[in-house]
Amino acid sequence: ALILGIESSCDETAAAVIATDRRILSHKLAGQEAAHRPYGGVVPEIAARAHVEALEPLVAAALAEAGVELEDIDAIAATAGPGLIGGVMVGLVTAKALALAADKPLIAVNHLEGHALSPRLADAELQFPYLLLLVSGGHCQLLFVEGVGRYRRLATTIDDAAGEAYDKTAKLLGLGFPGGPAVEKAALDGDPKAVPLPRPLLGTPEPHFSFAGLKSAVLRARDAGTHRTEDIAASFQQAVVDCLVDRTRRAIGRAPGATALVVAGGVAANKAVRGALEALAAENDLPFFAPPLWLCTDNAAMIGWAGAEHFLQGRSDPLDFAARPRWPLDPNAEKARGAGV
Ligand code: ATP
Ligand code: MG
Ligand code: FE
Repeated sequence: ALILGIESSCDETAAAVIATDRRILSHKLAGQEAAHRPYGGVVPEIAARAHVEALEPLVAAALAEAGVELEDIDAIAATAGPGLIGGVMVGLVTAKALALAADKPLIAVNHLEGHALSPRLADAELQFPYLLLLVSGGHCQLLFVEGVGRYRRLATTIDDAAGEAYDKTAKLLGLGFPGGPAVEKAALDGDPKAVPLPRPLLGTPEPHFSFAGLKSAVLRARDAGTHRTEDIAASFQQAVVDCLVDRTRRAIGRAPGATALVVAGGVAANKAVRGALEALAAENDLPFFAPPLWLCTDNAAMIGWAGAEHFLQGRSDPLDFAARPRWPLDPNAEKARGAGV
């Protein structure tokens, strides 16, 4: 079966056609970096307007590149949250209109489930259950992925997400926007041992994350005026990697039966992060899976694939499905937020 995927939850407008047998027939993406760059971050109103302008031509281009018509599509999957609500609504409303016009089922996709299942689009060998480090612009979580729609959150961040830490560090160091790739590039020319930076929560029994203190330390290192920008970037990246590895190592003990260690989300595009986690997996005799770089950052192929996984289980959603600004993958973990995390 063929699925049209639509993504618009942040600053990437995207459309893709994928098949339930994992073929990616097309994937189109329109970034908005130039529009947001003057502000050093994503401006929700600008994002929503840009999605409106970009989406219809992108959908048409995705269908054309796949060599299919809307009538050939078996289901339309769109991100319905979590994310910037204006953008989410643009994608969801467009998907609903297409579903209504072509009389096709709508599948409302959780953007985080798109990231969580993306490694299974890339690799048919990845089976449930697996331990997932989901590291993106808005999230940093360890999840025990038991099946489609079945996620147990083992840990989360108590302040910033890892991608957010990259973006803030890039801003502090004047490396521009988006921050992750810029910091990674600068770090290549730096010494990861040059600047002593903290590793928040390292060694604590619960595998939670914290990055706010690291960001403050980067600010102090910058203001000290004695360090090269490249050295701060490399030291920052090493601290992030050390924290991700330590926390994930601890979570492995809490994920008995996991068949693999998996990383997904925008920060999974980072080569230092991927390399360190691959080594951790090897150390624990676990197969390691990470999607190709383009499938780590936001895209519509992963949304189409999450839709495909639901479609294969016979699930679809009503056309009045409402966009959800918040939508945790593990509803039980959400209830524990009042308890501190
Ligand atoms: P979420 O998925 O949590 O809603 P998002 O969709 O904005 O957030 P993604 O698109 O998954 O996030 O990832 C974007 C984040 O990944 C940004 O914070 C960006 O800086 C970071 N990122 C992208 N590439 C890299 C890289 N090479 N190294 C480090 N970080 C990166
Ligand atoms: Mg983005
Ligand atoms: Fe994302």
